[in-house]
Amino acid sequence: MRRLSAVVLLLTAALTLSIAGNAVAQVTAIRAGRLLDPEAGTVSTNQIVLVENGKFTAVGANVAIPSGAEVIDLSNLTVMPGLVDAHNHLAITYKEVPEHNVYYFTYVMDPTPLRAIQAASNGMQMLSAGFTIVRDMGNAGNYADAALRIAIEQGWIAGPTIINSGIIIGGMGGQFWPTPEMAKEHNIVYPEYLDADTPDEIVKAVRQNALFGAKVIKICVDCKPWGYTIDEIKLFIAEAAKIGFKVEGHVQTVDGARRAIAAGIWSIAHDRGMTDSLHKEMARKGVWRAGTETPITLTGHTSQARYDNTVAMLRNAWENKVPLTFSTDADYYVPGMTRGEVAIEFIETWKAAKIPNADVLRIMTTNGYKVSETENTRGPIKRGLAADLIAVPGNPLENLDALRTVSFVMKDGIVFKRDGVMTPEKFFHGGPVNGWNIR
Ligand SMILES: [Zn+2]
Repeated sequence: MRRLSAVVLLLTAALTLSIAGNAVAQVTAIRAGRLLDPEAGTVSTNQIVLVENGKFTAVGANVAIPSGAEVIDLSNLTVMPGLVDAHNHLAITYKEVPEHNVYYFTYVMDPTPLRAIQAASNGMQMLSAGFTIVRDMGNAGNYADAALRIAIEQGWIAGPTIINSGIIIGGMGGQFWPTPEMAKEHNIVYPEYLDADTPDEIVKAVRQNALFGAKVIKICVDCKPWGYTIDEIKLFIAEAAKIGFKVEGHVQTVDGARRAIAAGIWSIAHDRGMTDSLHKEMARKGVWRAGTETPITLTGHTSQARYDNTVAMLRNAWENKVPLTFSTDADYYVPGMTRGEVAIEFIETWKAAKIPNADVLRIMTTNGYKVSETENTRGPIKRGLAADLIAVPGNPLENLDALRTVSFVMKDGIVFKRDGVMTPEKFFHGGPVNGWNIR
């Protein structure tokens, strides 16, 4: 008993010390020449944003800057909330040489540890381009995506907030078409895909991903002609809901899209199964569209015919008021471009679809927070939320290309990029400083 009281005393002392520590925390004051609110589609001038302990504490024109605050002068820039890529694959990088952009070979050649390091680098490249949240939707080897998320959360490295799917769950073979000997004798699709062909396997696969660090579930709805039935997709959704997870479906056929929508899936990836009537149904049921609309400017990654259809269907989705996200499926190397620059390039498709800039910006931010389910903790520049923001020289409401020159990035109240140069030093720690959880 006495030992217990001593422990309680020690804990109380530690808690008091940590509260005292917080009380003297550094305040950062940002002078924003223009502050863009993408939710409202408006810009306010000469705003002050205060940050303390990694959170926004005040935003407004008449906010007093406390004495001793570090002042960051962005009075020549447009400050705005961070961008969201709702569908990326940071832990895979396929390329022209040697694999002709066929990721089956990338998967055979690049081991998970190397892919985890690629993911760390790609994450920083995305953050530098202004993406403060990335949904990482599988193809990450043996949970390199979970390692990435945890390394960022624990303070080992800088990076966006990661919402990761773990291994993509599909019927036997996943998106691959393995030979019998490679599938049966060498389990060749694992860990790129997790086979689940029966209700028991579906439940177990969802639980495995949760155990190993996923935060969302990704399934192959129709990678094989038989695909998943509406009931099977509903089982995924129910099992994921027990953990508080949502389910995204990779869809490549009209029939697959119909089944996923009927089952009440959270989000649909890609645009190959989309039609006008399915868009109407998605709008009615509030199913998110992660259309991954590859721009024609990324030569070799789409065709003119495919691109024309992508632009038309994106326009159709917008006209039908489908809940849209900005999503890229950027999982390849484009020589001369960072992963972040590849992702930003996707604004070309949105421009081609003639979607108003204000809507594109809302989709890249507000909708991104909603599909990531962070809108109450991270995203908007609002008091109490995590202090993530970016700044660009121009005004993206007038010209989306302003997003190509993100010159300032703050993540969790720490400056990651200033005057166009990455300054990640304060993100690196010699141990886990933001939590001890393994997953
Ligand atoms: Zn994808």
